[in-house]
Amino acid sequence: MATPTYRVGLLGATGAVGQTFVRRLADHPWFTVTDVAASERSAGASYREAVNWLSGAPIPDDVADLTVKPTDPEALDCDFVFSGLSSSVAGEIERDFAEAGVPVVSNAKNYRHHEAVPLLIPEVNPDHLALIDEQDWGSEGFIVTNPNCSTVGLVCGLHPLMQAFDVEAVQVTMLQALSGAGYPGVSALDAVGNVVPHIGGEEEKMATEPRKILGTLQEGQVVPSELTVSAQCTRVPVRNGHLACTSVRFREEVSAEAVRRALKEYRSPMAEVDLPTGPDPFLQVLDAPDAPQPQRHVKAGDGMTVSVGRIQPCTVNDVKFVLLSHNTVRGAAGGAILNAELLVDRGYLTATPAAAPGR
Ligand code: NAP
Repeated sequence: MATPTYRVGLLGATGAVGQTFVRRLADHPWFTVTDVAASERSAGASYREAVNWLSGAPIPDDVADLTVKPTDPEALDCDFVFSGLSSSVAGEIERDFAEAGVPVVSNAKNYRHHEAVPLLIPEVNPDHLALIDEQDWGSEGFIVTNPNCSTVGLVCGLHPLMQAFDVEAVQVTMLQALSGAGYPGVSALDAVGNVVPHIGGEEEKMATEPRKILGTLQEGQVVPSELTVSAQCTRVPVRNGHLACTSVRFREEVSAEAVRRALKEYRSPMAEVDLPTGPDPFLQVLDAPDAPQPQRHVKAGDGMTVSVGRIQPCTVNDVKFVLLSHNTVRGAAGGAILNAELLVDRGYLTATPAAAPGR
C-alpha cells in the first residue's frame, strides 16, 4: 500500500535549521510542509518576507508563499511538527504541542534527557522508540529528539565497536564547523584564521548524550551505558562538517585492524528498512591516508553518511581514528527527518484521512 502524504508543520522555520528542513523536505515523498511557524517577529509575514534565506538555491515555491504563523498549536493544522526552535523557547512550545496531541520531532536539547523521550538515531537505537509509550502529555501527542550535532557522528562510530568489543572510555577532540553555531553565528573576526577552543555546553552534551543513546532499554526505561567520554570542542573555520579525532580504550585487547573490520562489516538495523532518506551505507570506512576531510566527504550519502578514516593504534589508549559527519544534515534536520520516517514505518504517526495518496 502506498504511504500517505503527511502534513507537516515546521516550528522555527525561519532559522538556520528550519531552512534546512524546508530544503530537504521540498521533494520528500511522504512529507509536505503545510505550515511554517516562528516568533512574533516573523508571524503574519509570508515565509519569503520573513526568512533571511541562506541557501544559493531558491526557496521552494509552495513554502515561500505560506504565511508564517505563531508557534501556537491552535494556529497550525498538521499531522506532526518538526522543531528547529531556539532552545530558549523550545521547552514550553514543544510541551504545548505534545499536550495538544501533536507529535513533535525535535532538534532542540530541551527534552533529550527526559526519561520517556527517545534520543534517537535510527541506525543505533531504534528500540528506544518504545519509550514513547511511557509518555503522558494528557493527549495522543509525544516528543522524539535527535542528538547534538557533535554527538551523532561519534555515536555512529562507537556503536559498532560497542557491539563487537568491551569499550571502556573515549577521548575525543572535536573540530566543529561554523554552521553549527547557526546564523550569523561566530563573529568573522573570531572565525577567520582562528580556532576557538570553547563551545558553550558542548563538552557536557558529548559526555552525557552517548550514555543515553547507547544505553539499554529495560522495562520501559533506558539504563545508561557506563561509557566514559572526555570531549574537547573547538570551533574551526570550516563551513560544514564536524570532525571528531577519537581515541578509544577497550577492556580487552583490540587491534586497529579489528576496529577497521568491525566498522566495515557492521550492518545497521535500518539496512533492510526502506526509508526515503536512509543512507546506504550509513557508515563508510575510507582508506586514503588523508581522509575524511569536510571539503571532500561531508556530502556523502546526501549528508547522511558518517565517514571514518585514519584508523590506527594509539599509544595512550588502544585505537584512534577520525570521524566526520554533516552537522546541519545528519546532526540536525536530516537526522530529524529520518527519525520521522522511522516513526511512520513503526506506525507512530497518522496521516489525516483526507490526505492524498503518496506523490
Ligand atoms: P536560529 O537560526 O537562531 O533559529 C531559531 C528559530 O527559533 C527561528 O525560526 C526563530 O524565529 C525561532 N524563535 C526564536 N525565538 C522564538 C520565540 N520566542 N517564539 C517562537 N519562535 C522563536 O537557530 P538554529 O541554528 O536554526 O538552531 C535551532 C535549534 O536547533 C536550536 O535548538 C539548536 O540548538 C538546534 N541545533 C542546531 C544545529 C545547527 O547546526 N545549527 C544542529 C543541531 C541542533 P524568528 O526567525 O522569528 O526569530
